[in-house]
Amino acid sequence: MAEYIKAREPNLGFGNMRMPMKDGVVDTETIFKMVDAYMAAGFNYYDTGYIYKGSEEMLKLALVERYPRESFMITTKLSMADCPTPEDMPKIFDISRERLGVDYIDTYFLHGLTKPTIEKAYKFGAFDFLRGLRDKGLAKHIGFSFHGTPEQLDELLTNEPDMELVQLQINYLDWDDEKVQARRLYEIARAHGKPISVMEPCKGGWLSGDESEAAQVLLPANPDVSVASWAFRFVAGLEGIYVILSGMGNVEQVEDNVKTFLNFKPLTEEERKLTLEVVDRIHAVPRIPCTQCSYCTRGCPKKLPIPLYMRHYNNLITYKVPDSSRHLYHMMIKPETMAANCVGCKTCETLCPQHIEITKYIQEVKRLLED
Ligand code: SF4
Ligand code: SF4
Repeated sequence: MAEYIKAREPNLGFGNMRMPMKDGVVDTETIFKMVDAYMAAGFNYYDTGYIYKGSEEMLKLALVERYPRESFMITTKLSMADCPTPEDMPKIFDISRERLGVDYIDTYFLHGLTKPTIEKAYKFGAFDFLRGLRDKGLAKHIGFSFHGTPEQLDELLTNEPDMELVQLQINYLDWDDEKVQARRLYEIARAHGKPISVMEPCKGGWLSGDESEAAQVLLPANPDVSVASWAFRFVAGLEGIYVILSGMGNVEQVEDNVKTFLNFKPLTEEERKLTLEVVDRIHAVPRIPCTQCSYCTRGCPKKLPIPLYMRHYNNLITYKVPDSSRHLYHMMIKPETMAANCVGCKTCETLCPQHIEITKYIQEVKRLLED
C-alpha cells in the first residue's frame, strides 16, 4: 500500500453504494457538486461495486471524465454471489473498467465475503485471479470486503497473506454487537497487519440524522456538531484505519464530513460513554438492524421487496400505530409481492451482511401487517 496517494489522515472515502435521487432518478447534478467539494478539500478515494446499480457509470461521468486519472483512486468489487462461472470473473472485471472508463482499478476487491462466497471464491480460483490482475498492472492493489465471522477472517488472512486491504463494517453500534462482532474483526485484521477500509461507519443512517436516537443523546451534549461526526470520530480514532467510507447524499453532508476529518479529534472518554448510551437507547427498541442495502433481494426467487418489509416492521415497532402502519403497507406493497409470497428458501439470509434472520421477520410482517 506504500505508493497510495494518501491525501489526509484520517482519510474520508466517498462511498457510492447509495446515490442521491431526485424524482426517482439519480441526481447527477448533485453528485457532480459533491465530487467537486470532496476533491477541493483534498480527498480522493472512491468506493463502488459491480453490483451497485448505476454507480460505476455515474463515477465515470462525475469523476473520471472530469479529473485527471492520477488525481483519484477507485475501488470496485467482484461479487462472487453474482458471478455464475469462473469465466465470468474477467468479463465482470472488464465491464467494471468499461463502465468506469478506466484502464486500471486502484484496488480490486472480492465483495462482501461470507462463508459461502469464500468457498465459491476458492472453487473459482478468485484469489489467484486477483493476483493475476495485479501482476498485469490492471489492479494496483487487491483485497476484499468482508461480512463473515472473526474465525473466518482469521483463516482467510492466514491463507491469503498478500491481500492488501480489508474492508470491514465498523461503527460504535456494532463494536460489541454479538452478530457483527466489529471489535473482534478489527482486532484480527490488525493482528495480521492489514490496513482497514471502514464501511457503514454510521450503520446505514442509524447513527446519523437529527431524528435518530443518536441525536437524542448527542445533540444536547454538543449542538454545534452533526450527529454523524461522532460516528466518524469513533472509527477514525482507531489505529490502522486506512479510509472511512461515507455514503453521502448531498453537498452539505460532504462539507460536514470534510469539516470533521480536517479538524479531526478522537472521542474523549466522556464522549465515548455517550455513544454507549446511544447503543443502549437503540437496543431498547427491538427493531431489525437493517441498513436497507438490498443485498438480500438479489437472490430472491420471488423478487420480494425485503428491505421494505424491514422498514415497515421497524416503523410499526417504533411508532406503535398498527392501523396506519397496515394502511401504509397495503398502499405501498402490491399483493403479488407481499410477505405471504415468501417460499422460505432462505437465500436472502445467506446474502445479508447484517446476519438478520430475514425469514423469521417476514413471518412477523405477514402476521402483523398482512393477516
Ligand atoms: S426466503 Fe423468502 S424472501 Fe428470502 S429469498 Fe427465499 S423467497 Fe425470497
Ligand atoms: S435485510 Fe439485510 S441484506 Fe436486506 S436490506 Fe436489510 S441489511 Fe441489507
